[in-house]
Amino acid sequence: MMFNEFSASVEKTPCSRSGSDEPFRYVFDDSEFWRQIPAWRDLDADRFGDYNWQQRNAVTTVPKLVDALGDAVPPSLVQDIEKGLLRTRMNMRLTPYVFSRIDWANYPEDPIRKQFIPLGSQFQPDHPETLDDSLAEENNKVTPYLVHRYPDKALFLPITLCPVYCSFCTRSRVVGGSTAVKSKSTYGAKSLDWEETFEYVRNHPELEDIVISGGDALLLRPKQIRQIGLSLLGIPTVRRIRFATKGLAIMPMKFTSDTEWMDALSEVAQFGAERMKEVALHTHCNTDRELSAWTLRAMQAVSETGIRVRNQSVLISGVNDGFSCLHSTMRKLSRLLIEPYYLYLHDLVPACEHLRTTVRKAEELSLRLQGSMAGFNTPRVVCDAPGGGGKRDISSYLAYDEEIGISAWTSPTAKPGKVFYYYDPIHLLPENGQALWKKESQIRDRLNIFKKEAESNV
Ligand SMILES: *Cc1c(COP(=O)(O)O)cnc(C)c1O
Ligand code: SF4
Repeated sequence: MMFNEFSASVEKTPCSRSGSDEPFRYVFDDSEFWRQIPAWRDLDADRFGDYNWQQRNAVTTVPKLVDALGDAVPPSLVQDIEKGLLRTRMNMRLTPYVFSRIDWANYPEDPIRKQFIPLGSQFQPDHPETLDDSLAEENNKVTPYLVHRYPDKALFLPITLCPVYCSFCTRSRVVGGSTAVKSKSTYGAKSLDWEETFEYVRNHPELEDIVISGGDALLLRPKQIRQIGLSLLGIPTVRRIRFATKGLAIMPMKFTSDTEWMDALSEVAQFGAERMKEVALHTHCNTDRELSAWTLRAMQAVSETGIRVRNQSVLISGVNDGFSCLHSTMRKLSRLLIEPYYLYLHDLVPACEHLRTTVRKAEELSLRLQGSMAGFNTPRVVCDAPGGGGKRDISSYLAYDEEIGISAWTSPTAKPGKVFYYYDPIHLLPENGQALWKKESQIRDRLNIFKKEAESNV
């Protein structure tokens, strides 16, 4: 079989490749698309739709990828992935669901492949200003599991494992296990250790919103979902909780086949509803192709629990940085009752320069998205200011020098008086700017002038 025979069974959408002119359609693929993968040619929908099977058959290594794709894999692809794995901070891990949403005939440009499988040939050198902990979460840790930066909300990280690993993960410093270039202390869910965190929330009545992230809540056991949900909602001053999970985008069958887990989630939702408190799921879908009939069925099940669902996307170069792709993704999410909430400018983390884009590009997309659909379905495009400035509207920079790609941001509520800087990827700058970054003393002077000017305006 030839490699390009795969193309026949994959639907084309506005996100199929950057600059694609496929028309928008409300299609939620209900074909047996996984049968394009040679190893799953004979797999029926019952098996494919079982979350346990999905978890057990995750593609985590090159040999497993070769097993799935069979003889058709070009040796050049295998070599390129091996090179990529020597540079990435995120291990490879894909559920069969998301693996079979890749258009393998077009793997170099495929927007789903780009998010999960690193190709050595596509990497760019790191920007000198990338940061291991770009959002300075470690500085705001008040217990080993809780980040408290904003006055009334906090971020609880009970687990650092996920059912898939994204090459661009903002918590690559801790999520998903060590790689060739990064050693980390990834942790699983240890429910006995969380009491200190609940106690902190109890003792800080100003905390109304708790984000439960990680890692992915999909991997919390039903008992842990209950423990976290009921403990937090039981605190009189906590008004809203949200579980962060990429599940709807990468393993939607969890919501239809893991009844124990769904029962736990429903019980938490019910407990919240009785106290007039909000229980939400925050998911993470980046392209329209991630949304299929499996997602539709999953959302039918979630809707019945009364849980509100929102989406947080990352703007990724060559993946979803075109207007028609973003618009298509946001419309399909809205149709599923998933409210588009944030679209993040890619954080300044190492080993993903090829996936970042510029503030200007994000701002242009934001301007086009505004007014293209209902206001409540229009995502807020934000820069999470490096160093702990928090999420800032993409057009709210204090100053921006596009030639050298530096922007200055303030955060009057979280960090009054302080200025934060974001840096565009060097390979996307105008030629003059790229040349300046090659001359150390010149770029230093130019950056200092910019920072002085910005700081005098605060
Ligand atoms: C994003 C974030 C939150 C939640 O912020 P929202 O704008 O309400 O979504 C809370 N704490 C930290 C540290 C965060 O990064
Ligand atoms: S699902 Fe979220 S936490 Fe997990 S690897 Fe992807 S971006 Fe990181």
